[in-house]
Amino acid sequence: MTVSSNAEISTSSLSKRDFDVERVRGDFPGLHQMVHEKPLVYLDSAASAQKPQQVIDALSHFYAHDYANIHRGVHELSQRATKAYENARLKVQRFMGARSEREIIFLRGTTEGINLVAQTYGRANVSEGDEVLITTMEHHSNIVPWQMLCEEKGARLVVGPIDDRGELDMDAFEELIGPRTKLVALGHVSNALGTINPVKEIIELAHERGIPVLLDGAQAAPHISLDVVDLDCDFYTISGHKMFGPSGIGALYVRESILEKMPPYQGGGDMISSVSFEKTTYNRLPFRFEAGTPNIAGAVGLGAAIDYLNELGMESIAAYEEELLDYGTEALRAVPGLRMIGEASNKASVLSFVLEGIHPHDIGTILDQEGIAVRTGHHCAQPVMDRFGLAATARASLALYNTRGDIDRLIHALETVRKVFG
Ligand code: PLP
Repeated sequence: MTVSSNAEISTSSLSKRDFDVERVRGDFPGLHQMVHEKPLVYLDSAASAQKPQQVIDALSHFYAHDYANIHRGVHELSQRATKAYENARLKVQRFMGARSEREIIFLRGTTEGINLVAQTYGRANVSEGDEVLITTMEHHSNIVPWQMLCEEKGARLVVGPIDDRGELDMDAFEELIGPRTKLVALGHVSNALGTINPVKEIIELAHERGIPVLLDGAQAAPHISLDVVDLDCDFYTISGHKMFGPSGIGALYVRESILEKMPPYQGGGDMISSVSFEKTTYNRLPFRFEAGTPNIAGAVGLGAAIDYLNELGMESIAAYEEELLDYGTEALRAVPGLRMIGEASNKASVLSFVLEGIHPHDIGTILDQEGIAVRTGHHCAQPVMDRFGLAATARASLALYNTRGDIDRLIHALETVRKVFG
């Protein structure tokens, strides 16, 4: 695949081809290495994804040829860097289906996106006695910022329950949307369970009562075609490093009518229009929310990652991964003593499990010796672990470069785990 130049948006973004996983794998140098003398099988993309050569090249090209600070300089390099950064914003806007680039704020990632909303929209709109509604399956990033806000304001964090399959109990959730609910915030896809939440239905329910909805899209963006206008959500956050882009860059979508009224987040350079000791006026959207020198190259790299995803086509990626997830689910279910954690009917990417009598960290350590990278622990989702009465699980997470062969290697290595600890 080719990378479109930093200065222009990929016009082939809507072209669809048959999904050729071997060709895709060829784009990811990190996958082709030996770990403990075994060929690497990378099943930890939910934590962070490997990077295609196209992203690495875009970063390297930008630093080698176009790098300077943005929005300020009249000189050529500053102009080029500004163009590349703002072009990346357009790519994010289109990728997310937003109406305007004014609605896209660059920041470090999902965590910072949720904190921004809590500290600006939240502080301005949540008062004593109000409620913020989340779910049991949230990542800590979508729990702690709301806890901090609720503590400061004397508000209440309300938590929607899930069932044994890891699906949201929708009747209970609807009941919990009450007269004091000021915001609903939930993951589009759960990182610990893989559940794809019925977010459109939830947004409709919340909007009928005039309540805005934030979606944590960290685990959705690499796997599902996004359309914030169709979803009709009010806030949506993504992390570049989970979608094959650099770490330290992500984006927050905010509906423009809300963003216009939101107080600024951090103060500093670039977010102002004019400053005097008597009065500061703020810059126009979205710059008002981007104080200081941002991760310029990170944005360019994220733009290249989006080109890459568009080139493959999100629908093709989703169809390929769905088939792979089904294959992995069946294969794991057949392993004696294995219990799947998270069996929602609508899932993406994640295969979380425990093996009877074996600690997940021991599973992870043996798998590593076999060259297989999985994540073990609470996955920054301790409340969901508590819900299932567990301290930890082993989690294999799939991405567009994984194969049935990777899953076969995992299953084979789990036999070794069982022999060692069984
Ligand atoms: N939300 C979910 C569902 C996640 O899986 C993660 C990361 O694992 C985050 C939020 C936090 O993302 P980041 O660390 O990129 O800010």
